[in-house]
Amino acid sequence: MATLQLHDLVKRFGDTEVIKGVDLDVEDREFVVFVGPSGCGKSTLMRMIAGLESASEGDILIDGQRMNDVGPADRGLAMVFQSYALYPHMSVADNMGFSMRLAGVPKAERRAKVLEAARILQLEPLLERKPKALSGGQRQRVAIGRAIVRNPGIFLFDEPLSNLDAALRVQMRIELARLHEELDATMIYVTHDQIEAMTMADKIVVLHDGVVEQVGSPMALYHHPRNRFVAGFIGSPT
Ligand code: ADP
Ligand code: MG
Repeated sequence: MATLQLHDLVKRFGDTEVIKGVDLDVEDREFVVFVGPSGCGKSTLMRMIAGLESASEGDILIDGQRMNDVGPADRGLAMVFQSYALYPHMSVADNMGFSMRLAGVPKAERRAKVLEAARILQLEPLLERKPKALSGGQRQRVAIGRAIVRNPGIFLFDEPLSNLDAALRVQMRIELARLHEELDATMIYVTHDQIEAMTMADKIVVLHDGVVEQVGSPMALYHHPRNRFVAGFIGSPT
């Protein structure tokens, strides 16, 4: 199981406060979507959860344990970015297994985990290919495979589909929903795409200028936006 709690989280870069006291509860196996305009702090918040940025104030709890001083590799999570650099000289299988190799996981176990991830992502026929011989969607699946092999309790996705064309985005959305079912993991997903948020989320978090404007189910936010900002993002026209 994997729950996440943020308590009064603040992030400053120099004198500029970009995350201004965020509280959030994410339940085990929940699919939570962060939405908000460019520059509102979505990526910074994700990087703080991942341990790639420190918190200036506040607490990050995973399964009730304070994580502020725990490194990214030991938080039990895995992050998939929009720009997912694969190693060009390595095969798909080696790209997916690389973090396990660094961690000293034995070869047979690495192979088993790569095969399992490849099965889930339908990458089996492509395991020996190099990244340059893959389509954009296939490369994005490899990047997701790299996260799956780590067996995280929490997946963090930061606009993972924004480099893909519209048809592929729809297909990947369906695949991610299936992945969520199959892996029984908690997922936090950043997008600026309203349809993605409405169709994928159990819970939507609307961010605006470093604060949470509203949290709720897609239907709750659609029918009862708290203010014009939320309405503009996902609400019904008022
Ligand atoms: P989003 O992902 O919602 O577009 P970001 O989290 O990337 O927003 O950025 C939020 C704000 O923090 C922006 O104003 C951005 O310029 C600023 N910011 C992000 N990273 C840094 C950094 N390393 N140093 C200074 N300012 C930063
Ligand atoms: Mg961002």
